[in-house]
Amino acid sequence: MNSINNLLEVNNLSKSYYSLNGETKVLDNISFKINKDDFIGIIGPSGCGKSTILNILSNLDKNYKGNITKKENLKLGYMFQNPTLFPYLNVYENATLGLKINKKLDTNNKNYVLNLLKKYDLIDFKDKYPSELSGGMKQRLALIRTLASKPDILLLDEPFSALDPQTRLTVSSDVLNIIKNENKTMLLVTHDLNEALTLCNKIIVLSKRPSRIKNIYIVDNNNLYDLIYKDIDK
Ligand code: ADP
Repeated sequence: MNSINNLLEVNNLSKSYYSLNGETKVLDNISFKINKDDFIGIIGPSGCGKSTILNILSNLDKNYKGNITKKENLKLGYMFQNPTLFPYLNVYENATLGLKINKKLDTNNKNYVLNLLKKYDLIDFKDKYPSELSGGMKQRLALIRTLASKPDILLLDEPFSALDPQTRLTVSSDVLNIIKNENKTMLLVTHDLNEALTLCNKIIVLSKRPSRIKNIYIVDNNNLYDLIYKDIDK
């Protein structure tokens, strides 16, 4: 790690899946860095390997070639597509489930979660069940559950894909505000260019499989939509 702001570095990451039908090469020599306070979007066609990258970064998948260097004691929080809330657990129990499983539900952490629920308007619902929450509230709860373990980087995999377009706009801006407020760094996988342009300050465009990095864009005030749109494999 050559700078104190550098949290994670991916160098020459390649990955194949093997099955009876042979090898499927998914990632081909992917390299990028995540710095503190980055809001990075990874965009590319469906099936190009975006979720595979998150699985590898979060250690769920250890079969790859290349190097991943993480800052010492770096913690990653992974929020999956369609985050599952447990219907028979109330809001507080859902939010603290990960801490409980990892035997880290001490007074400090309990207060941390209660404070997040308070800050993000869920405290009055802490004894309610997921079926009593709106789509946006469920999403905030799933995010708070991910934040409960105090990760440095949040990995978000298409977190808004199940929401209707209108809800999606409000929920994605809520989620973005929470992540900024909590001073977190974010890596967001999406296939929606508008979403990436609204939420991210850097956009990594992946090609179709086997995925290479086509370009990394810094999001500034210029109109990048057309430029990046042309770059995305259809
Ligand atoms: P994306 O997130 O960009 O849609 P994924 O990372 O989910 O893509 O998948 C990339 C490719 O790898 C897809 O073609 C998918 O079918 C394949 N794949 C994903 N997981 C597995 C697996 N466990 N075994 C075999 N092939 C897989």
